Amino acid sequence: MPHKRLFVIYAGGTIGMQAGPAGFAPAPGYLPAELARIARATPGFPDYTLKEYAPLIDSSNLQPAHWNAMAADIAAHYHDHDGFVVIHGTDTLGYTASALSFMLENLAKPVIVTGSMVPLAEQPNDAEQNLVDAFRWAAQDDLHEVCVAFNRLLLRGNRARKLWGAEIGAFGSPNYPILGRVQGDYEFNPALCLPRPGGDFEAHAIDPSLAIVGLKLYPGHSVRMIERLLDQDRPAALVLESYGAGNAPDADQPLLDALGRASTAGTLIVNVTQCVSGKVDMDNYAAGSALARAGLVSGWDMTPEAAIAKLYFVLSQPRRVLGPEELVKVSLRGELSAG
Ligand code: ASP
Repeated sequence: MPHKRLFVIYAGGTIGMQAGPAGFAPAPGYLPAELARIARATPGFPDYTLKEYAPLIDSSNLQPAHWNAMAADIAAHYHDHDGFVVIHGTDTLGYTASALSFMLENLAKPVIVTGSMVPLAEQPNDAEQNLVDAFRWAAQDDLHEVCVAFNRLLLRGNRARKLWGAEIGAFGSPNYPILGRVQGDYEFNPALCLPRPGGDFEAHAIDPSLAIVGLKLYPGHSVRMIERLLDQDRPAALVLESYGAGNAPDADQPLLDALGRASTAGTLIVNVTQCVSGKVDMDNYAAGSALARAGLVSGWDMTPEAAIAKLYFVLSQPRRVLGPEELVKVSLRGELSAG
């Protein structure tokens, strides 16, 4: 592989934290120094330029405005770098990988998001391996999408989820095959990856002030609170995490009425399943078709993280040929399998 030059965003996360009086907290300068050591010790490690964000954040504090900063940094360095690594906390990593996938249109280079469960400062850790893998994948030819590198796996970014909170293999992409893995060699399956885009690269900003709400159904949810939220606050969009194949209680007419009123009034309501895998099919059960009649849009097999990020993206775009509702239903970056 010819020598590649990467641009690296270090946003924060456990990976670069050190123990302090209140627990683990980001430690400016520490990860860049460790990374330089790892680069010297790893044959063929790509050249890179690193931008450390200030302040470094625990990704629980991530805000949509951070996505704009990341997309702008990638855009500013796009043409003179071969690939990108985003070093990030694991808690909201799936949201960031999803958001970047939508914001970076016609991406012709790898953008690899990684983090770790154990900080570099602890031994043994998963941080060093994840960094080496992320840099290696970011230098990969024929990879043109936002991916997550974690625990020797390469996952599509907008399919990746933090599924296991106490495992080194914290991330999976239950609704899409793994794009690549490291088993001695770095092996990936180009047939599963997005094709090289035809058009020119463009980074789009999102509007961080959009009111997008996530709501998970459960037996006993308070319809009064849902009514108040939808009728009074009129969010721009709602991601409803429904049961199974996209079902909700069709015996709960006040809930269906509230959803119907909101969607008529302009709230874009996307139905995703709260199952780890599977897809929404609102034609399957009466309990699902009632949601379709209430105006909900199927999110198919999108993860809740991808649905939230996609709504930020589509609702921030000037209207082109397709409106937000049509864009939600179709695959823009491989985030859903039907449409
Ligand atoms: N709370 C940390 C974060 O998301 C967890 C991690 O990085 O693993 O920044």
